[in-house]
Amino acid sequence: MKILIADAFDASLPERLSRFGEVFDDRDRLAEANVLLVRSKTKCTKEFLDSAPNLKLIIRGGVGIDNIDVAYAESKGITVNNTPAASSVAVAELAMTLMLSLINKVPFGHEGMVSGDWRKKKIKRVELFKKTLGLVGIGRIATEVAKRAKAFEMNVIAYDKYVEKSDHAQMKSLDEVLAESDYLSLHTPLTDETAKMINKETIAKMKDGAFIINTGRGKCVDEEAVAEALTSGKLGGYGNDVWYSDPPEASPLVKAPNVVLLPHIGASSKENLLRIGDIIVEIVEAFPNK
Ligand code: NAD
Repeated sequence: MKILIADAFDASLPERLSRFGEVFDDRDRLAEANVLLVRSKTKCTKEFLDSAPNLKLIIRGGVGIDNIDVAYAESKGITVNNTPAASSVAVAELAMTLMLSLINKVPFGHEGMVSGDWRKKKIKRVELFKKTLGLVGIGRIATEVAKRAKAFEMNVIAYDKYVEKSDHAQMKSLDEVLAESDYLSLHTPLTDETAKMINKETIAKMKDGAFIINTGRGKCVDEEAVAEALTSGKLGGYGNDVWYSDPPEASPLVKAPNVVLLPHIGASSKENLLRIGDIIVEIVEAFPNK
């Protein structure tokens, strides 16, 4: 069996997979590969899959499989797996990090310190305590965010089109969540329904000065509308890990005020990459066509 590791995984993975066959990271050898390991960087389009005639299994280390043309892969007899449960804690911790960095102006204070500017009087902090956190989507990651927000004594509400009940959040309509949230954290996959779900109209339904945190998918928001709302002060801040493309080409967010921006690192904790590696070894081990 030949295993191509196309994206960044834990450094121990090649050795751990070597008992199943040859493991390599040379993308020029895609045509030889029986198993392909990707995260979000490699785009498994029709054209890409057509140049992989020996492929039997693709494993996406992580949650979203929107970088893989799953229907086309399956039509060619290729099995597509992911590791959906591994990343929840890593992403939830990053959502909390973005929320806390925004409201405590961590980047602004830090930049001041390293440039010799004592910004004590320029920083007005706000708290999470007793504030309302609205979650859009109440799946694995949002549930971990809800548990952490409860430790901060936040009031946690959620909207999910496909989930009626949660032990960790009070379920509401989307309009109620938009209207009541001091902090809105996005946790849906990218689908036709969720694309640009946060736009001029939905932002208008939010409280003045509310914060949005996006660790879901970049295309779930209209970046132009978010940037405008930040500039006008309608939104108090935007904490973002996810983009229209990795890296973004010309995002208006990079010039907008009151943002904390990260390069899609939600799943990139050391511990998560080890967990993803464990699950990948199990999937390869159980794969029947080895
Ligand atoms: P999940 O499947 O457990 O939860 C997603 C939830 O969204 C589900 O409960 C689903 O019912 C809900 N949903 C789907 N369509 C909806 C709609 N139209 N309106 C409202 N809710 C809707 O997935 P998860 O593990 O919690 O991951 C959520 C998303 O986080 C992933 O799809 C991925 O896009 C993103 N993610 C980002 C990173 C990162 O690095 N920042 C890492 C992992 C996952």
